[in-house]
Amino acid sequence: MKRKTKMVHSGITGDKQTGAVSVPIYQVSTYKQPEAGKHTGYEYSRTGNPTRHALETVVAEIENGTRGFAFASGMAAITSIMMLLKAGDHIVLTDDVYGGTYRLATKVLNRMDLSHDFVDTSNPEEVENAVKPNTKMLYIETPTNPLLKVTDLKKMKEIADKHDLLLVVDNTFATPYWQNPLDFGADIVLHSATKYIGGHSDVVSGLVAVKDDQLGEDIHFIQNSVGAVLGPQDSWLLLRGIKTLGLRMEAIEKNSLEIAEFLSDHPQVKKVYYPGLENHPGHELTKQQSAGFGGMISFDAGSGEKADEILRNVQYFTLAESLGAVESLISIPARMTHASIPKDRREELGITDGLIRLSVGIEDVEDLIADLEKGLS
Ligand SMILES: *Cc1c(COP(=O)(O)O)cnc(C)c1O
Repeated sequence: MKRKTKMVHSGITGDKQTGAVSVPIYQVSTYKQPEAGKHTGYEYSRTGNPTRHALETVVAEIENGTRGFAFASGMAAITSIMMLLKAGDHIVLTDDVYGGTYRLATKVLNRMDLSHDFVDTSNPEEVENAVKPNTKMLYIETPTNPLLKVTDLKKMKEIADKHDLLLVVDNTFATPYWQNPLDFGADIVLHSATKYIGGHSDVVSGLVAVKDDQLGEDIHFIQNSVGAVLGPQDSWLLLRGIKTLGLRMEAIEKNSLEIAEFLSDHPQVKKVYYPGLENHPGHELTKQQSAGFGGMISFDAGSGEKADEILRNVQYFTLAESLGAVESLISIPARMTHASIPKDRREELGITDGLIRLSVGIEDVEDLIADLEKGLS
């Protein structure tokens, strides 16, 4: 099966009983049992729900795993994965992980005696040096936000194997359409499905996939114990979103390449970050481990004032947090998603006041470029 076909035909499709082509929304909490202690495969919807199960089956297949899990948000998925650990364990994480993951590690997990170190995982040596005797998990995000740094999945797997670490990959930016970390030996792949997988700015959700049966059992145990499950309506929205994931990602990537080239040639733009550009440090590595470059572009407009001018002038780029939708979004990381990082540290990382992040949508690229041109000139 080729990639776009896989998005349409994976998992459980339709309804056996009626022939309905779309999976029904099973808006139900409990299930009639034929006898006490016997059930039809479903007993209570926290434990399992047919609509959620259909989604979980698709997710397992499109990530080349065996088990999938749907959670109430990306953070609910990440928190549940962290519950695989126990007090005293240590985690090594990518230094520019999603802000919510940073907050979880530094303000919540620390209270449970789960310690952490943040390192630049695009440099395997730093990762190796950060591993301690009590390190149990290597948690990476690739590419990262907002500078699109790329981490080598194969090298991470070697380090994880050497030290017996659970390798977890946040694959939100790349999507299962372009990148499948389980193929590179990752133990767990997860997504904020709020972004590209949902794709229409209308649902908050998190998804997880694994290959190993025991790990699948362990995560199901935690999902059922902690209870941060996705409801049937939202599960159905994601089932619908996944069918067009391939089409959307192809359209988004085509637009992104043109926009990245336009920005690179523009005299007002100081620097462009997009893995699809040959001068991006992660370009070759992305070609080795991903089938595409995605739709996130960051660029340095030179100053905060210039960035504001661009925001005032664009019409089709909506100023908003989040990413991965059909509509193009624009944001200023220094004042939005990364405002909690001290300015010195931000500048050190390259997150300048003039840095603008684009999440490219599926509009006509001529309109998007005209929009940016208007803002820049
Ligand atoms: C948004 C996001 C999350 C968190 O997901 P929510 O659905 O907002 O809880 C985690 N990781 C990445 C890379 C994200 O972009």
